[in-house]
Amino acid sequence: MNETKNINAVTGSPFRGRGGRLLILGGGESGVGAALLGKQKGYDVFLSDAGYLNERYKTELSENNIAFEECGHTAEKILSADEIVKSPGIPEKNEMVKAIRDKQIPVISEIELAYRFKGDAKIIAVTGSNGKSTTTSLIYHICKTAGLDCALVGNIGYSFAKQVAEHPKPLYVAEISSFQLDDIKDFRADVSVLLNITEDHLDRYEYRFENYINSKFRILLNATGNDYFIYNADDEVITKKLQEITLPTHLLPFSMNYESNEGGYINDNNMRLRINNERTTWSVYDFALKGKHNQYNTMASCIAAMVMGIRKEIIRMAVTDFQSLEHRMEKVAAVRGVEFINDSKATNVNSTWYALESMEKPVILILGGVDKGNDYSLIEDLVKEKVKAIVCMGLDNSKIHKAFDGLVSPIVDTASAKDAVSAAFRLAGKGDVVLLSPACASFDLFSSYGDRGRQFKEAVRDL
Ligand code: ADP
Repeated sequence: MNETKNINAVTGSPFRGRGGRLLILGGGESGVGAALLGKQKGYDVFLSDAGYLNERYKTELSENNIAFEECGHTAEKILSADEIVKSPGIPEKNEMVKAIRDKQIPVISEIELAYRFKGDAKIIAVTGSNGKSTTTSLIYHICKTAGLDCALVGNIGYSFAKQVAEHPKPLYVAEISSFQLDDIKDFRADVSVLLNITEDHLDRYEYRFENYINSKFRILLNATGNDYFIYNADDEVITKKLQEITLPTHLLPFSMNYESNEGGYINDNNMRLRINNERTTWSVYDFALKGKHNQYNTMASCIAAMVMGIRKEIIRMAVTDFQSLEHRMEKVAAVRGVEFINDSKATNVNSTWYALESMEKPVILILGGVDKGNDYSLIEDLVKEKVKAIVCMGLDNSKIHKAFDGLVSPIVDTASAKDAVSAAFRLAGKGDVVLLSPACASFDLFSSYGDRGRQFKEAVRDL
């Protein structure tokens, strides 16, 4: 047992009884959740945000007598803290974070604080570059279908710490981003799922892919022999890393290329699972989620559910009736024979690759937004094969033109969801699909990918 735990085994707090000051940097969903949990566990909590706090969060903090400041940080208050919970959105290059690191004040993430107080509860943690929300939601859906008392938490939008403070559960299904893993210390999941690793967020990792890979693997930092690691064995980045490390956990690979003694395998549209002496085979046609990427997500979810001891019949039922999430390959409507799909959450080229891969009809592709260093050559073959026309929706579309001029014609420029939808509709014929799968972030024209998806759907409904 480490020193922290010995100090106060009852509350788990290293500061209780000596006036521990817990400083929360960043007042979004996770920061406010951490503040509530910290307060409940007896810390002296102060929350500081460089920007405006949402009114709802301010009310919540005030009602719980938690002191806070917005629109700026008071250095003395921050640098006198015993421990800091840093929001995942704040980068290391932030001046205040640099000052905190210089002073060597311990920094943890919100999931670490939640972990400290979760008691005996179990955690299924899902990470990866793409597919986290889908897989986390599907695992949660299976667990609920099986009647397990569990909560959906983490990066998906519900603070883990707040859940622990207000409605503790015996099981948490958690979506975990690399940023949240960067500041864990003792956090340990009973079941970890690693979906894939592709280049993303490199601006936060000194533009070194290796740093981002290591960050994802921190999900196994405290793994023990009783835990399970479910991973994509077709992902070369993951398998290469696994060759370099030794893990005490049960390894459960899933793959479409080869079958292992334990894990999952999809071949010829059948998924075979072998876990803890259980065997089963299901047709992928029964899965509610379509597309190759979702077959991976579904396979990973089924393995996690089997590890939890959920009955096969229940798992099968749940993957059949699962309703897909908004903005992820979401069917919006068919208008005069043209189908519209909202995949606004595709904010990198890899997700767009999977969206195109799953298309069975000719596609009018809506692409564009804020490019995070995209390499469009990755989708060149699929674009050649399936895309009839490209509608750019962004302020600067030059990279898209550079990549596809001459390959696809026409390519038109638009700068709003309304214009993009009407242009795409004009270019589409009966039996075509208009696919919004932008491969870019949304912040040039929209406030978020959700806003982009909603405006797209509204424009489709107005046709
Ligand atoms: P995340 O939470 O990791 O961002 P989501 O489930 O929200 O992932 O999906 C984000 C985007 O990635 C969507 O466009 C979706 O169609 C695509 N996607 C989902 N699963 C995968 C996967 N396993 N591999 C690649 N792309 C995926």
